Amino acid sequence: MNRNMRRCVGIGLIAIALAMTACARKETLKVGIENNFRPFTYTENGENKGFEVELWDAVAKKAGIKYELVPMDQGELTKALKSGKVDLVVAGMTVNKARKDNLAFSDPYFQTGLVLLTKQDNTDIRGKEDLKGKTVATEIGSTAYTYVGGLGTPKEIKGYPNIDQAYEALAAGQVDCVIFDERNAQDYVQKRGKGKIKIVGETLNKESYAFAASKKSKHLGAINSAIEQVVKNGTYESLYAKWFGGKPQKLPGQ
Ligand code: GLN
Repeated sequence: MNRNMRRCVGIGLIAIALAMTACARKETLKVGIENNFRPFTYTENGENKGFEVELWDAVAKKAGIKYELVPMDQGELTKALKSGKVDLVVAGMTVNKARKDNLAFSDPYFQTGLVLLTKQDNTDIRGKEDLKGKTVATEIGSTAYTYVGGLGTPKEIKGYPNIDQAYEALAAGQVDCVIFDERNAQDYVQKRGKGKIKIVGETLNKESYAFAASKKSKHLGAINSAIEQVVKNGTYESLYAKWFGGKPQKLPGQ
């Protein structure tokens, strides 16, 4: 190779490298959210809202990530991650062993658990010990669905693609109870289910939410340090106060 050719090849390589960097910078992540997981991620009148929608936006800004939100049902989210339709899921995704076999998670940022709901006038269900022969409703694809399956005692488990259908079935007396995520259940009981539905007994287990990605994702390092930063600079606490009122018992990472 003569000097001129070497120079040409060199310039060519630099051009390719620059183009690749520009491409990487311009990459827009597709972020799957659940369309009805209040007050974390939901779509109302075409607008995406919720604690996690705002938390994610703060995290993405700190991490320098551009993104667009793709709302869908809970049952679609994991499939969308696996098929590459979305790059990340922000939807109150509970971290558990089965999911960790297939997906990668960020550091957890929300502690919670499952609760039991009945009709306001129900007197015979006070805890999970009272579910023998009962019909329990929940959302397909959720950790609550797996939890109810593991109880063994209910007569029937009814899985709905959207948790509101489970709450509505309960209000209409078609099922005896619902098991689902505590904060979503509280939101329903305080608003649309007010006076009709109640939460009974203790929280049934401990779960924590994290952002989920494919095992190949290269973004989780930047996302984790951005989570740490939005906790340190007070953004997490102010979003918590806005969406839940008060202060979290523990901040993420504590
Ligand atoms: N936390 C539950 C789960 O991960 C429910 C999440 C949701 O419905 N978006 O399965």
